Amino acid sequence: VSVLVVGSVALDTVETPFGKRKDILGGSAMYFSVAASYFSDVKLVGVVGEDFPERGVEILKRHNVDITGLQEEPGKTFRWGGKYHTDINHRDTLFTDLNVFEKFSPKIPNSYKNAEFLFLANIHPALQLEVLSQVDKPDLIVTDTMNLWIDTTLGDLKKVIQKTDILLLSDSEVRQLMDEPNLVKAGRALLKTGPKYVIIKKGEHGAMLLNADNVFFAPGFPLEDIKDPTGAGDVFAGGFVGYLHQSGAITEKTLRQAVIYGSTLASYACEDFSLDRLDKLTLDDINGRFKVFRDLTAFEV
Ligand code: AMP
Repeated sequence: VSVLVVGSVALDTVETPFGKRKDILGGSAMYFSVAASYFSDVKLVGVVGEDFPERGVEILKRHNVDITGLQEEPGKTFRWGGKYHTDINHRDTLFTDLNVFEKFSPKIPNSYKNAEFLFLANIHPALQLEVLSQVDKPDLIVTDTMNLWIDTTLGDLKKVIQKTDILLLSDSEVRQLMDEPNLVKAGRALLKTGPKYVIIKKGEHGAMLLNADNVFFAPGFPLEDIKDPTGAGDVFAGGFVGYLHQSGAITEKTLRQAVIYGSTLASYACEDFSLDRLDKLTLDDINGRFKVFRDLTAFEV
């Protein structure tokens, strides 16, 4: 009856060409949970420090996210800082302060163990393996990762990928991981290492869903008003996994719809800093933009 997510809960300091914000709510699990909550019940596992603001807990509660598994530990909350270039697809990480994350060991509460879908948000692959050892076979395991782990923790990352049903990664990550410049070839090679599906994210240029037989491509939404793309990947995952769970079936059709719902939510997330836009969506907003997506790519032969 629910989706379980394990990932980071963070205070981000973000600079984009459109403004600068300090200590705003972020983190992969935070972005994922709020996005997925528009479709499904979400159970979150993560860690915060004593300085985590009440508004962070409030936003999760407002979206009915189960936070039984959100541990509070002595010390400071995980912090990340990034600065975007004029070409908003590129950013530099300015700092990563692990703080309470350094000693984090994910514990899955008993009340979470019946979750049907598991989303392993971007955290250290060793922690993702710890999570996998604690859950009873979920119906679907979806995993996200980042270039840092390809560089530093490849062995554990490969073990996680082997157990993953659907792997999400960016175009540059899949090229790096498979040492193959062609995305379709790199994706197909990756499919031989475990996952049934691979989703390659191309930032503002959309996302590609790939399995051994099919390729589906969703464009990026042509947004005129981008303020902050932080978390767009996690929000994509939230919309994708949440919708797929709610649809009750994993078929080529629902997977393709889920990619469009993920893209829809990700586009909204970019319209403001932190979770500010995502927090205030309605299902009418979401379904309205879903239809615009269909019109964007519809053509007659
Ligand atoms: P994205 O823009 O999809 O890459 O996600 C950005 C979010 O990931 C930010 O809110 C960060 O707090 C979080 N983040 C950045 N680096 C890490 C890391 N090493 N481990 C966990 N979460 C991270």
